Amino acid sequence: MPEELDPFKMAQKQLDTAAEIMNLDRQAHAILREPMQTVIVNIPVKMRNGTTKTFTGFRVLYNNVRGPGKGGIRFHPQENIETVKALAAWMTWKCSLANIPFGGAKGGVICDPKTLNPVELENLSRAYIRSVGKFIGPDTDVPAPDVYTTPQIMAWMLDEYMKQSGRSDDFGVITGKPVEVWGSEGRFDSTAQGGMYILRDAAKLYKMNIKKSKIAIQGFGNAGSYAFELAAKLGAKVVAVSDSHGGVYSDKGLSFEKLNEAKNKTGSIVTYKGAEKISNPELLELDVDVLIPAALENQITKENADKIQAKLVLELANGPVTPEADRILFERKIPDLPDFLVNSGGVVVSYFEWAQNRAGYYWGIDEVYTKLDTIMTKSFVDVVDTQKKYAMAGKKVSLRTAAYVIAVGRVAHAMKARGWY
Ligand code: NAD
Repeated sequence: MPEELDPFKMAQKQLDTAAEIMNLDRQAHAILREPMQTVIVNIPVKMRNGTTKTFTGFRVLYNNVRGPGKGGIRFHPQENIETVKALAAWMTWKCSLANIPFGGAKGGVICDPKTLNPVELENLSRAYIRSVGKFIGPDTDVPAPDVYTTPQIMAWMLDEYMKQSGRSDDFGVITGKPVEVWGSEGRFDSTAQGGMYILRDAAKLYKMNIKKSKIAIQGFGNAGSYAFELAAKLGAKVVAVSDSHGGVYSDKGLSFEKLNEAKNKTGSIVTYKGAEKISNPELLELDVDVLIPAALENQITKENADKIQAKLVLELANGPVTPEADRILFERKIPDLPDFLVNSGGVVVSYFEWAQNRAGYYWGIDEVYTKLDTIMTKSFVDVVDTQKKYAMAGKKVSLRTAAYVIAVGRVAHAMKARGWY
C-alpha cells in the first residue's frame, strides 16, 4: 500500500500537523502517536460442516484518559491491525471533539460475513466476545456496530458478555443494540442526522441557500441513504448518487423512492430509470454546491483534488480525503468539513444509549434529536472559532486542523491533569 494511503500513517500525519500548529508538548505527542493497548486474538469457531475454523480478531484501545474506550467492531475480509489502529485513533479525536466522556477504541475480525450462515455468524460474534471480554466493559471499553456488523450482532455480543459477567444490568457494555434490549431511539439515522445539522450550520456560515443547493452523494448505504432523505427534507436537490456499481445523475434531482426501488429490485441504484449513468470518479468532480462522500476512504486524493468543483465538501465517510488532497482543497479555498466532526452523530447517540443504560431511564426520539443538535452545533462552533482564532494570529489552518487542535488539546490537557506527563 502506498504510504499516502496507509490509514495509520495518515492518522499519525494528521496528528503531527496539529501538534506542530499547537506546539503540543513532545511527551504528550509521543503518547498520542501510538495506541495504549492492542489486543490480537485467534478465535476457533464451529462451522456448519462440523469443522472448526480459526479467525483472527482485534481490539485496540487508543486512549482512555477522558473515559472508557468507544468504537465499533468491523467484520471484513480485508480487516487488518493498521486500519483498526487508525480507526481507534480517529475515534479518540471524534469523542474528544464532541466533548463526550469517552476515549477511542476500535475492533474487528478478519472474515467475510457474506459467506457465513446465521448460526456461524452468531458463533463467531459470541466467540469474539469470549476472547476480548476481559478487555471491554461499560466502564472500560464500549464497542458498537460498524462495517458489516448489525444491531442483531450487538445483541448476541451483549448476551455473551452478560453470561460471562453474571450480571443482569450490563446493557451499557455495547451500543447500537436493538431497542428491545435498550438500544436508543434514533440510533439508526443518527450519523446522517448529525451530518445534516453540520450542513445546516455550514450553509449559514458560507452563505449558501440550502433550498437552492445541488448535492452529490457518494454511497447509498446507511450513511448515504439517510443523508439523501434528510438533505431532501432540508429542501436541497440531490442530483447524483452512487454505490459500488457506479452512479446516476439528473440535473432535475433524483427521487429517493425510485432509488430505493432500484436498489431493492436489482441490488444497485445504477438501474434507476430516467437519469444519466456516471462513474464514481465523475460523481466526485460534478459541478454541485455540496459533495458528500459517504462510502469509502481515500476517494479525494492528490490525483483528483484539483478537479473538485463542489463549493463545500461534507465528509460523512471516514477518511475520504487524503492529507495531500486536504491541502489542495484548502489552498483552493473549498471548505472541507472533516469526517470526525461531520459523522460524529453516530457516536453521540451511542453515548446517549450508554448514558440511558447506566441511568436505567429512557428518552423519546425528540429528546434524542434535540440533544444531538446541541452537541453537533457546539462542535461546529468550536471548530470555526478555533480556525478564526488562528487566522487572527496570522496562521491559516484548515477546518480539519482546527478540529484536531481542539480534540488533541482536550486529550493532552486531561493527560496533563492526571499526571501522565
Ligand atoms: P454501508 O455499507 O451501509 O454503505 C456503503 C455504501 O458505499 C454502499 O452504498 C456501497 O455500495 C457504497 N460503496 C462501496 N464501495 C464503493 C465504491 N468503490 N464507490 C462508491 N460507492 C461504494 O456503510 P455506511 O455505514 O453507510 O458507511 C459509509 C461510510 O460512513 C464509511 O466510511 C463509514 O465508516 C462511515 N460512517 C458510518 C457511520 C454509520 O453510522 N453508518 C458512522 C460513522 C461513519
